[in-house]
Amino acid sequence: MQLFNSLTRTKEYVTIPHDRPMTLYVCGVTPYDTTHIGHARTFLTFDLLIRYLRSQGAEVRYCQNVTDVDDPLFARAERDGIGWRELSERQVAQLVADYQGMNLLPPTYFPRASEEIGAMIPIIERLIALGHAYVVGSEVYFSVRTDPEFGRMARMGYDELLALANQRGNNPHDLRKRDPLDFVLWQSGAPRDPKWESPWGLGRPGWHIECSAMATRYLGDQIDIHGGGADLIFPHHPCEIAQTEPVTGKRPFVTTWMHAGLVWLDGEKMSKSLGNLVFARDALREHGADALRWYLMTQHYREDFDYNRTTVQSYGQLALQLRQAVAARGGQSSPLDLSVARDAFIAAMADDLNTPAALAILHTMVGETLNAAAEGRAVEGAAATVRELALLFGFTLGPDVP
Ligand SMILES: [Zn+2]
Repeated sequence: MQLFNSLTRTKEYVTIPHDRPMTLYVCGVTPYDTTHIGHARTFLTFDLLIRYLRSQGAEVRYCQNVTDVDDPLFARAERDGIGWRELSERQVAQLVADYQGMNLLPPTYFPRASEEIGAMIPIIERLIALGHAYVVGSEVYFSVRTDPEFGRMARMGYDELLALANQRGNNPHDLRKRDPLDFVLWQSGAPRDPKWESPWGLGRPGWHIECSAMATRYLGDQIDIHGGGADLIFPHHPCEIAQTEPVTGKRPFVTTWMHAGLVWLDGEKMSKSLGNLVFARDALREHGADALRWYLMTQHYREDFDYNRTTVQSYGQLALQLRQAVAARGGQSSPLDLSVARDAFIAAMADDLNTPAALAILHTMVGETLNAAAEGRAVEGAAATVRELALLFGFTLGPDVP
């Protein structure tokens, strides 16, 4: 199949290895708020990728982390007057329920950053020893000047990188840093933050090092595919590359970088600060998994998606027709053959997960099956093909609203 690699900005052929498992790491959520549709669409993209790869004979080892050492979680726990771990566990339980509701395949590994601190410290020590990181008091920073390719994925100049990093949580005024773009590997943290023992005193890791540690611990020094939302193209993923490659001594850390576009709501950016989040749980209750999965994949995953609360309603009808086509019973004459359409569906999925094309083909197959059945033609084979592709796509074929 071909996948678009964010690092090279081209579609590249991906060979499915048959002598080893394929590895996929997807950056997970910070568990302080329920899963919103933006998360749902990102994880749905990788769910489809895994289903497709497995249908082609790949064994996929899939790691998705829980970022439970992160400022927004600690801030929310403090605001609500509960322990951060309690808040995190409650939100992770909701997350798992949302994933199940959407029929998302469970990860092979689902590590929590808070339980992986022991894997992070040796990486930081090695980066210091290699001269890529420096210690100031009880803080440790990565020195971006030691990596001439730092931020290559973002295709921006230094000033643009710094501006974007600042928008996304970087503190350029931290006078302990040698360069305003240097990022934290270890920090003493705010008084409210949980703390762990380290060679630099009690503290907590930075966000980026968490993913380097979990990805390499669970999937190895080099992984096939690494993904997340498009907002991770900078700084998170370039930071992961910069930290990981010197320590493992192996390049590239990741063969294919994949990023899913962001989700808007009725023409506005969907964000916590605008207060216009649509939660997966509510959308599932209202529309069911199949309608939601169909709707969210009507746009290619790399494009931003404008979620429209009126449009999503019409996908319930499509999900119903899909179930009817799978259950269709026609007559005996002139059997309907969908093998050409089936090949076209597979080819669309192999073309960088072209789900709009694949779903258009599936929609036509559904219509042809229902029409042929109404005309008394034999549709047993056609219904089986529709069922096969529907399951490949991860439709539940279950009742509309659970
Ligand atoms: Zn990550």
